[in-house]
Amino acid sequence: MDRFTDKVAVVTGAAQGIGAATALRMAIEGAKVAVLDRNTPEATLEQIERAGGLARGYVCDVTDRASVQSVFEQLAAELGDPRILVNNAGITRDDLFFRLSEDDWNAVLSVNLTGVYHCSQVAQKYMVAQRYGKIVSLSSRSALGNRGQANYAAAKAGIQGLTATLAIELGQYNINVNAVAPGYIATAMTDATAERVGLSPEQLQQSVAERTPLGRVGRPEEVAAVIAFLASDEASYVSGQTLYVNGGAR
Ligand code: NDP
Repeated sequence: MDRFTDKVAVVTGAAQGIGAATALRMAIEGAKVAVLDRNTPEATLEQIERAGGLARGYVCDVTDRASVQSVFEQLAAELGDPRILVNNAGITRDDLFFRLSEDDWNAVLSVNLTGVYHCSQVAQKYMVAQRYGKIVSLSSRSALGNRGQANYAAAKAGIQGLTATLAIELGQYNINVNAVAPGYIATAMTDATAERVGLSPEQLQQSVAERTPLGRVGRPEEVAAVIAFLASDEASYVSGQTLYVNGGAR
């Protein structure tokens, strides 16, 4: 498939995990990918180069409006005006609600929700001008509630409301806005969760697998495939939706 030939796609938090898999997938399908992360995304760029794709890396902290603004200006000058935005950057700072600190609340809301606001608002200007755009944001199964994740659940539920609203406001400009809500995907983020609860990644994965109808946890590539679908013209009449990618788990 070659669904993104010459389209400029911006993927945030793409130095590793789901973002890296998404950047690779889009590059393989012909996109010119702007790989954004707060750290230099060398490993992702090397993978894309090995696969024969075209990408450039940009250091960008999505919580910092000025950083987002200037990186978009730079990438638009170097690659072309962005047509696809994947709001993937995310963090967790888990704790039970009664002792959840304001710092941890603010940090999680700032990256996971305000970051989506910053990037989407900057990106939509380019998309409105082209009368074409796809915005896909990473929500989570945790949006439905998850012990120890009040901050993260609030941010990820916020993404679903933001997505539904942007779909209403931006539809007239031929911009589709959707969200993907993964269940447990094996990445550095979930490895850190395992460590916090005193389990090895394998032990936590085993316990999640037992509660998942498909009997296993997910892989970043499986989420990337759904993001790519929603960012493609195959999903041209899908907007304002949140698609759960969670192996059938409740
Ligand atoms: P990772 O932690 O593996 O990757 C997230 C990337 O985002 C990291 O490179 C991280 O950098 C970067 N990042 C963090 N803060 C910022 C920032 N302020 N600006 C730019 N980049 C930043 O996570 P996953 O790949 O697992 O998750 C990707 C997305 O999917 C997240 O939004 C996550 O919430 C969501 N998700 C993940 C699930 C899972 O099971 N893995 C399930 C449901 C949703 P650094 O390493 O420095 O923090």
